[in-house]
Amino acid sequence: MKELVIDLEAESKEIRKRYRALLRACKPTLQRGDKQMIRKAFDMALDSHKDMRRKSGEPYIYHPIAVAQIAAEEIGLGTTSIVCALLHDVVEDTTITLDDIEREFGKKVARIIDGLTKISGIFDPNSSIQAENFRKMLLTLADDVRVILIKLADRLHNMRTMDFMPRDKQLKIASETSYLYAPLAHRLGLYAIKSELEDLSMKYTDPDTYKFIAKKLNEKKAERERFIQHFVEPIKEILHEQGIKAAVFGRPKSIYSIWNKMRKKSIPFEEVYDLFAIRIIIDTSQENEKAECWKAYSIVTDLYRPNPDRLRDWVSSPKANGYESLHTTVMGPKGQWVEVQIRTVRMNEIAEKGFAAHWKYKESNSDSGLDQWIQKVREILSNPESNAMDFLDDFKMNLFSDEIFIFTPKGALIQLPHNATALDFAFEIHSDLGASCIGAKVNHKLVPLSHKLQNGDQVEIITSSKQTPKEDWLSFVVTAKAKSKIKSALKEEKRRVAEDGKEILERKLKSLKITYNTENINKLTMFFKYPSSQDLFYNVAKGVIDIKNLKEFLLSEKSVEQNGQQFNSHISGLVDKINKKDYETLLIGDDLQKIDYTLSPCCNPIPGDDVFGFITVNDGIKIHRTNCPNAAKLMANYGYRIVKAKWTSQKELAFLTGLHIVGIDDVGLVNKITKVISHDFKVNIRSITISSNDGIFEGSIMIFVNDTAHLENLIRHLKQIKGITGITRFDSDH
Ligand code: MN
Repeated sequence: MKELVIDLEAESKEIRKRYRALLRACKPTLQRGDKQMIRKAFDMALDSHKDMRRKSGEPYIYHPIAVAQIAAEEIGLGTTSIVCALLHDVVEDTTITLDDIEREFGKKVARIIDGLTKISGIFDPNSSIQAENFRKMLLTLADDVRVILIKLADRLHNMRTMDFMPRDKQLKIASETSYLYAPLAHRLGLYAIKSELEDLSMKYTDPDTYKFIAKKLNEKKAERERFIQHFVEPIKEILHEQGIKAAVFGRPKSIYSIWNKMRKKSIPFEEVYDLFAIRIIIDTSQENEKAECWKAYSIVTDLYRPNPDRLRDWVSSPKANGYESLHTTVMGPKGQWVEVQIRTVRMNEIAEKGFAAHWKYKESNSDSGLDQWIQKVREILSNPESNAMDFLDDFKMNLFSDEIFIFTPKGALIQLPHNATALDFAFEIHSDLGASCIGAKVNHKLVPLSHKLQNGDQVEIITSSKQTPKEDWLSFVVTAKAKSKIKSALKEEKRRVAEDGKEILERKLKSLKITYNTENINKLTMFFKYPSSQDLFYNVAKGVIDIKNLKEFLLSEKSVEQNGQQFNSHISGLVDKINKKDYETLLIGDDLQKIDYTLSPCCNPIPGDDVFGFITVNDGIKIHRTNCPNAAKLMANYGYRIVKAKWTSQKELAFLTGLHIVGIDDVGLVNKITKVISHDFKVNIRSITISSNDGIFEGSIMIFVNDTAHLENLIRHLKQIKGITGITRFDSDH
């Protein structure tokens, strides 16, 4: 073991240095007395964390200082937030209590720190502790947005310094980040932080692809910079001639967004045209903003031909997250499309720092999209939803969606997410209007409730007092507000029916001479496999459960007890077993280990893939690839069910995977492909589907291979066949 020598004096110097850097970052917002407050918080944090170190061996205090610095510099928050960021871990990790904080720093700071302190959940296999935690955190959003902003700063610093964490922790944290924190940053308008979170998350969940794209980007860097300079020069000149003060430069797109494009369009790196965007940042007064932006637009499109489908005007109607900018895509001198973003210094600050910057410029009485959104979140959260996972799904959907603008009959403008229906619109105006809605007139034409609205539609809602919310409405509404209102109406209805069912059941049990008590009701609920006694009552009222079924229960009373216990101990048993030292890492392909596992069909892992195990309720352990589309959600919500997994080398086994092949159609192409696969490589083909359209050949082939090296070798050989232009592996066969 290496001996650890710590130079305490040098460390103490470094701490002071970092603290001074933090103070410099805070300077623009400092007012009288602020410096003392920050100093007091720093001293308390320094003292209470004094014996703690991070996984890297560094003093713990580096972390709160860094979080405070991000809050000040990258989000633009003020003194209260800096104080809270410095103290964000003391209540959770040290002996300092919330009362101590309140005494020293007042109520406001104490409330924010409380929001920042995680709840420790009890172990319940049927719920997700993480989902509950997320929900608690989101609840604070309604109270004070600063909690979320500091949480984002905390998460960003943890992601930047995750190298010393064990692999399973890295996966869990990275997944949570892509599942919730990045969308939240997006929704709050923090684009720079959102992009960095996505990139860092991908670096851990899909390291190979991340490194591959980073390398490719680096290879072409000089060439790209020459192109940008050449493209930008004439724009700069004319802007200058016309007296517009502006900075013009090229900005690389994030690795994650490039990868997303490759995946969505199934194209190789070389075919992604927008690896960068050109940004024009105009320095002007707030009254002249709009005119100057359009002047710049006119200059750009005089020089380069614009694509008429790609004009986005978020200057006239800002996005709901506060984003303002003018985007266009023009044809560059070498015949490729180039995206140009035009905005002012103020708009740029809002785009980078989001919420806090937005408030700085906010006029006292304007009600921006961001304020409306926070208002909406408050409404959703005030509606108690029993299932935290459901809630998260609804909430998340609202984080990333783009918005459309709809007019009321009186001409008021309502903002809705993309794909919103007439029914969403009704609920958006008022929940009673939604609940009694039977149809709508869109631009004076009668349409059904499920009609999808288009940007600019004018909508009038038609109601009936006889109408009540229906179960199938949930299948087409998209706003979290409509969803939660419908769900709570249905729940209320169910509760009423269940009340009747309860009385009916009481009578029936009496006739069977079964005592009506909590114990027996619980047994019955378990026997009929309902999630709650309310569901039992409901189904009795609906006639799903009758006397005959109740008699069956009487007969098998004995087995009920056993079933109940089995169910509850199932997951904790598996977790215990895995957590024992010898099972710390699940070895796949090693049959000496007597643990049930299966390879998940959603991503078809093969040896060599980066994988993890996930403990399911009924199917033992499922092996997923770490870049599986479902993995982020599983890991984010059920971190405690994750098992590290590793392949053992075993050549005889064959694993199913899919290849997507594109090429120029040619006589005998299919034969050549199958010859390489089955003859040269002796690989078994499970299925092959081929389509040919106007001379373009496209095929999907499911094959059995040994591992990733085997697969890569095969792909290399297939690529040498004349006519084939692209081969990509795909995850699932459905
Ligand atoms: Mn922290």
